[in-house]
Amino acid sequence: MPPLDTAQEPSGQQAPLSPTAALKATAERADNCVFFFDFDGTLAPIQDDPNAVQVTPGVLEAISELAARVRRVSLVSARPVDFLRSRFPDVPLTLHGLYGLESQYVPGKTITYPPALPFADLMTELARRAERELPDEVLVEFKRLSVALHYRSAPELRDAVHAWAQDQASRHGLREQEGRMVIELKPSVQRDKGSVVAEEIEDFSCAWYFGDDLGDLAAFRALAVREAADPNFLGVRVAVRNPETGAEVAAAADLHLEGPAAVPAFLREALTLLPRRDKP
Ligand SMILES: [Mg+2]
Repeated sequence: MPPLDTAQEPSGQQAPLSPTAALKATAERADNCVFFFDFDGTLAPIQDDPNAVQVTPGVLEAISELAARVRRVSLVSARPVDFLRSRFPDVPLTLHGLYGLESQYVPGKTITYPPALPFADLMTELARRAERELPDEVLVEFKRLSVALHYRSAPELRDAVHAWAQDQASRHGLREQEGRMVIELKPSVQRDKGSVVAEEIEDFSCAWYFGDDLGDLAAFRALAVREAADPNFLGVRVAVRNPETGAEVAAAADLHLEGPAAVPAFLREALTLLPRRDKP
């Protein structure tokens, strides 16, 4: 499969996984398989303005078709669920937004993780304060239950943004999540991409996870934990490479793709090995 290369593990702790072998094993248990995708940097190229981001051409068609071939396709993203739905309006997907603080299993019905609700007022106030106190080049993205501070257009502000976020986090007992040219303030609740994935794979015997950023490592680990506990479970971690966090994410992955532009081509190849199925 040309767009892929298998993982390079210089230490040799992990057996290299062939993409074709992984897909054939997946086809045998497609009725019990879930495909997870991160959004930014995985299904869409990252841009200075997060609101302008659109999926990579070909992704919508490939994801729609994949949803007809496996039991479930889920997005696990830092974005709000409404944003994710706007990019995949008619595709039968499970959506986990804000690192799992919001979930949508049925279109139009978003469930909020209850322990995060008491943080809503504080997050509104923090977003206002960030607009006032941080330099204009920092893009403040208010997401109802979290606040993301993007410094992509002025990377030299990284230290100042981190110091401000750290101060607010310790003052209000919040969690910080670092990403690609962004730091996010989140409620201090035990919810991340790892816990979302661990929960969702409980009654599956196969899961793939595609991600590009540090927040995706927890999801990679959730697959590894399940594999260690259940030798029959098939977990496949796919790193979508990038110059910023790519090395760390790639080191934890089984398979590598060269950036978000390579994702639709890989999925089209994958579909040739996954037969269509009739969902009940
Ligand atoms: Mg990402």
